[in-house]
Amino acid sequence: MISQATIESILNAASIEEVIGEYVNLRQRGANLVACCPFHNEKTPSFTVSPSKGIFKCFGCGKAGNVIRFIMEHEHLSYVEALKFLGNKYNIPVEDKEETTEEAQSRMLRDSMLVVNEYAREFYSKYLTEEQAGKDAGLSYLTERGFNEPIIRQFGLGYAPEERDAFTRAALAAGYKQELLVATGLTLHHPAGGGRPEAFTDRFRDRVMFPIHSLSGRVIGFGGRTLQSSKQVAKYVNSPESEVYDKSRSLYGLFFAKQHISKLQKCYLVEGYTDVLSLFQAGIMNVVSSSGTSLTEEQIRLIKRFARQVTVLYDGDDAGIKASIRGITMILEEGLQVKVVRFPAGDDPDSYARSHSAQETLAFLEQHETDFIHFKISLMAEEMKDPLKRSSLIRDVVDTISVIPDIITRTVYIEECSRHLGIEELILTREVARIRRRRYSRQAPERPATPLEEQDHNLDQFSQNKRGDALAGKNDISRCEKDILYYLLKFGQSPLQEETSVAEYITLSLEEDELELQDPLMLHIFKEYMELTGDNQARRRYFTNHVNPEIARYALDLLNQPHSINLKVLRDSLPIEESLLKENVTKSVLVYKLRVVSLTCNQLTRELQQAQLQGEEGVMEEIMKKLTVMMEVRNSFAKELNRLS
Ligand SMILES: [Zn+2]
Repeated sequence: MISQATIESILNAASIEEVIGEYVNLRQRGANLVACCPFHNEKTPSFTVSPSKGIFKCFGCGKAGNVIRFIMEHEHLSYVEALKFLGNKYNIPVEDKEETTEEAQSRMLRDSMLVVNEYAREFYSKYLTEEQAGKDAGLSYLTERGFNEPIIRQFGLGYAPEERDAFTRAALAAGYKQELLVATGLTLHHPAGGGRPEAFTDRFRDRVMFPIHSLSGRVIGFGGRTLQSSKQVAKYVNSPESEVYDKSRSLYGLFFAKQHISKLQKCYLVEGYTDVLSLFQAGIMNVVSSSGTSLTEEQIRLIKRFARQVTVLYDGDDAGIKASIRGITMILEEGLQVKVVRFPAGDDPDSYARSHSAQETLAFLEQHETDFIHFKISLMAEEMKDPLKRSSLIRDVVDTISVIPDIITRTVYIEECSRHLGIEELILTREVARIRRRRYSRQAPERPATPLEEQDHNLDQFSQNKRGDALAGKNDISRCEKDILYYLLKFGQSPLQEETSVAEYITLSLEEDELELQDPLMLHIFKEYMELTGDNQARRRYFTNHVNPEIARYALDLLNQPHSINLKVLRDSLPIEESLLKENVTKSVLVYKLRVVSLTCNQLTRELQQAQLQGEEGVMEEIMKKLTVMMEVRNSFAKELNRLS
């Protein structure tokens, strides 16, 4: 048991914003701090930290608790382990007698492995800077490559001696256990066989060493680069996966880059260790590398904790570039923005940064940043001439657009794509919707779509419908939302009561119940409406002539369709308890009155449409006046009904 006193001193020392701030990008919002939740995938921050209360809460996935709970969830630790983790961080000794042997062993193993890695980093670093052989081989190479002393020190670069077991012998002599050296992968175990005795040798020999840091700055593994040009020797050797090193969940340089990424809200993604170092040295410090492995989902989510935009930097003459653009699709899938910079032939980020000044490099990055559609099209300029290949390129681009979770972003890219490839937007929209539908039905057995994806999916289906049946929504909520939007677009600026306009009333009553429209397109229109100025007519015109044809079409349909409040929904939503009988009766009467008025309104709407068709403007105006009055009557009934609900 850990004493209450110890727990309290840990809670006193470990400020929640400081601890959580090391994992996510916290931003001030009122008295609280917010971030995108590290426990679930989201686009807008619903993860809140209250420094005064010492708690965090995610309104998206519901995870909540104090700083200890956060560490337990995030580091996958038990309560006791989390206390030790924090105790260790804040130098508070944590005594515990009840830790199971297994827990203790696993914790001790991880701790010991990190200690061994730290010893190795120091060993390689000393060899690089203090031993003549290391200076001759490694330091002269790094200096020649233009790396200065501070950058070598900051990233903890080193050199592994040529001898077959120099590190292993030194580590054993320093008292480190053989099994730990093997567990970290620093030492290779060769069992006896073929007439040879058992042997232990160094994994890294005659190589420049790049330590790989965890998010909190501990050395979890190494990358070793040979300086020999022989094809027989692997250019890079990396630490194997271990208790402390998970390749797919770490990014080279992130520990040093995270604060810059967060500050600039942008992350450069490069291929190699030296690309990171060169850019960092040039003052471009928001840069990480997936260090040779192909980009993983976990790595993208790591970046996402700190920034919303990723710019992928490609070598000028990378033969594998077409295959590697899979990474772009993955980044888009995670809801991040992607930009691409391709270096001139013969250059990579490392060589470019070395042969240009820091300002030139930064200017190059800024000037050559393009979105992925331009990038793909420019990549396949040759193929574009061949009609068959052209259509497969279009398919490819459309396929990539279809993975983007956010419909507005998708729409923007579709517009872009339409402009560049000379294809009608509607065709592209349909194609994207078709791919998304197919993808969802394929994924369905493995993973149910999240509510957001379902909405998106519905919306895509909706976009596919022809104009005539575009409003034939299937669920009641969306019909009610359509009602709200209808009033907003048509009568938003008309007075509803005293000083309150329809728009204000709708906003206030939605806010009152913390309601937000669920349908993404309707919500988008709703939000955009609130930012406009002008009278009813001006605002209506804005939407019916909207730059996004989908929205324009939707607004036209909405405004022109015969309208009535959805009585069935109203009835179904009435409470049935006996104690509410009186209210229910009153409501029923109101609903009835409402229905009558609604019918009149419908009749007037039909007449209005008729007049519109025949172009009788005077008649239209007359009907509009009547309709407005009836609508207001209807609104007041609806309002009364709302008051009673
Ligand atoms: Zn969450």
